[in-house]
Amino acid sequence: MYRSVLVPIDISEADLTRQLIPQVKIHAKTAKVHFLSVIPSVPFYASLGLAYSGELPDKNGLQTKALQKLNEIVKQFDIPEGRVQTHVVYGPPKDQILKLADTVSADLVIIASHQPGISTYLLGSTAAAVVRHAHCPVLVVR
Ligand code: ADP
Repeated sequence: MYRSVLVPIDISEADLTRQLIPQVKIHAKTAKVHFLSVIPSVPFYASLGLAYSGELPDKNGLQTKALQKLNEIVKQFDIPEGRVQTHVVYGPPKDQILKLADTVSADLVIIASHQPGISTYLLGSTAAAVVRHAHCPVLVVR
């Protein structure tokens, strides 16, 4: 049984998130599940429904909004509250995913990947980096 499962969520990719739900249900039955959303760069603002200019919130405001959205998304997974923890941080997604995996001593990372295409070859860049560098098993869902 896994004890600490990390599930990175790209808030702007609802389809990828939907793919994760059944796998998280199967593999994280009794585990603590850490959901992580990383705020990478400006295009991310669009996924929060915010305009690019004008009333952009400051860093803390953005982090709060992202956390609200992540908490909303996490409800779809139907995990008892006591077993869920949500995290929002800034930085390069792959670095932050790997860092949090170590911090929470993850024994499994469940990550979604886009369908392989010519542009990404076999795995997208985030999933590929996590598979390559994580210190624990990684389940790539597609
Ligand atoms: P890409 O080619 O866009 O990197 P991948 O298929 O490699 O796409 O990875 C997609 C997965 O990586 C997402 O389903 C999610 O689990 C994770 N991921 C990507 N960006 C982020 C982010 N900003 N925050 C959290 N997880 C992310």
